Amino acid sequence: FHFAAPANEPVYSYAPGSPEKVALKKQLSAFKAQQADIPMYINNQEIRTGKTVDLRPPHEIKHKLGHFHMGEASHINDAIAAALAAKEQWAATPWEQRAGIFLKAAELIATKYRYHMNAATMLGQSKNAYQAEIDSACELIDFLRYNVHFLSEIYKQQPVSSPGVHNRTEYRPLEGFVLAVTPFNFTAIAGNLPTSAAMCGNVVVWKPADTQVFAANMFMQIMIEAGLPAGVINLIYVDGPQLGDICFSHPEFAGIHFTGSTAVFQHMWQTIGQNIKKYKAYPRIVGETGGKDFVLAHSSADVAVTAIALARGAFEYQGQKCSAASRAYLPSNIAEAVKTRLLAELKTMKMGSVEDFSNFINAVIDERSFDKITNYIENAKKDPAAKIIAGGNYSKTEGYFIEPTVIEVTDPKYVTMCEEIFGPVLTIYTYDADKFEEIISVVDSSSSYALTGSIIAQDRYAIDLATKKLVNAAGNFYINDKPTGAVVGQQPFGGARASGTNDKAGSMLNLYRWLSARTIKETL
Ligand code: GLU
Repeated sequence: FHFAAPANEPVYSYAPGSPEKVALKKQLSAFKAQQADIPMYINNQEIRTGKTVDLRPPHEIKHKLGHFHMGEASHINDAIAAALAAKEQWAATPWEQRAGIFLKAAELIATKYRYHMNAATMLGQSKNAYQAEIDSACELIDFLRYNVHFLSEIYKQQPVSSPGVHNRTEYRPLEGFVLAVTPFNFTAIAGNLPTSAAMCGNVVVWKPADTQVFAANMFMQIMIEAGLPAGVINLIYVDGPQLGDICFSHPEFAGIHFTGSTAVFQHMWQTIGQNIKKYKAYPRIVGETGGKDFVLAHSSADVAVTAIALARGAFEYQGQKCSAASRAYLPSNIAEAVKTRLLAELKTMKMGSVEDFSNFINAVIDERSFDKITNYIENAKKDPAAKIIAGGNYSKTEGYFIEPTVIEVTDPKYVTMCEEIFGPVLTIYTYDADKFEEIISVVDSSSSYALTGSIIAQDRYAIDLATKKLVNAAGNFYINDKPTGAVVGQQPFGGARASGTNDKAGSMLNLYRWLSARTIKETL
C-alpha cells in the first residue's frame, strides 16, 4: 500500500483583514475567556488528580489560562501498563489503518482545529501568529503526512530472493514501550516525537514540557478524535526525574525519543547505561539537544542577505530555536555595513503580546529562561571585552520580555560565542577578511554543538571551501540563508556532536529507529 509524497501544507499569512486573522483572533479570545481544566490522558481516559499547576501566557503573566493536573508515580506506572496492554492489538492493526489515523489527525488540524492549535501555541508558548502557523499547523501536519509516506517507502524495502528461496523483511515495532519527552519550543516536535514511534506500531508514554501543556493537550484531543485507540499514546504531566527513575528501570523500556537539553539527555543516557542489564532488548536512544549555530559571512557576501539572515535567524521566536543563529563571523570589509543594516532591521521588530499581530518579538518562555538569558546580558555589560550594540534591556513586570540583543566581541572564544543561551542574544565577531581559512577553523572549534550553520557568500570557491571544511560542524548547513526554518520533506533536521544523535526528524532515518526488523528466509 503506497502513500505518495505529500505537498507541504500551505502557510496562511494572517494578513490584516483576512478571514484567517479574524478566525484566529476569535480563537485567542475564546481561550482567554475560558479557564482550561487540563487532564492527563491514560488509555484515552481523562485523569484529574486535583494537584494542579497554573498556566499563564509568558507575555501576560497576570492572566491565568487555566491549569493542568499533575500526576505522580502511580500515573507513570498506569501509563506504562496502559501502553503495554494496548501493544499487541496496535502492532497487529493493519498498517494502512494505523496510517489512516495519523492522516486524519493531519486533516483535522488543517481544516477544523488549525486556529485552536495556533492559538494554544501563541498563548501557551508566546509565539507570534506566523511562527505558530509554521509550527503547530504546517510543520505538525507535514510531520504526520510525510512520516506516513516515508514509512510506506520503508515497508517496501525487501531483500532479493533466489530460485528455491524466498526472503522477506518484516518491519516490526520495538518490544516494549517508547518514552517521548518533548520540548516547549515547537508544538510540531511535541506532536512528532510520540506519533512517529506510534505510527511504526509502538506504544508510547508521552511527557511534554510543563510550559507546553496547553498545545499538547489540544493535539492529544485531536489524536483521539482521529481514532487513536486507547493506550497507544498516553499523555502524562509528571516530574521528569521521577519519570526517568520509573521508565529507565522498567524491563519493557524500549527507547526514548527526546528533544531538550544536552545535560538532561546525557544524564538519561548514563542512567540507561547503568540499567542496561534490566532490559529485554537494547533501548533505542534518539535525541535532539542543543545548538550554538553560526552564520559565517565571506568577504563576497551580500550585505542585505547577511543582515536579514542574522535578524531573522537570531530573533524569530526570541531565539528559542535549537537552530537559532547565535554567533556571527563577519569579514572586516563589510562588517560595519552589515551591522548598520542589522540594527536598522531590529528597529522594525516590535515587541509585545502575541495578540497584537504586528509584534515580531514576544516573551521568552519562563522566569528561569529569563534569568539565565539576562544573566549573560548583565555579564556582557560589565565586561570590557564585550560591547552591547543593540538591545540589552529587559523587564518581567508584564511578561518575560527581553529586547533583541546584539553583543560585539573581540575574542572569537568569548563565552557568548561558545555557550548556548537559548534566547534573543546574538554575538558578533569581526575577522580579518583575508583570513577566511583561519576563521573556518575557529567556527569549527568554538562549540561542542553541531546543529545548524550558514555560509553567506557570492564567491563559489568560498562556498565550496566552507561546505567542505565544516562537514562535521552542522547537521543542517545553509548556503545564503538563515540557519532556521527547516521544512519537513525538504530539509530533514538534526545535528551531531553534542547536538544529538542526528536521526533526522521528518525522514526515514528517524523512522528506522522505531522499527526492529526480522528477516525471514523460506526454503521452497
Ligand atoms: N526545525 C527547527 C528549525 O529548523 C528547529 C527545531 C528546534 O529548535 O529544535 O528551525
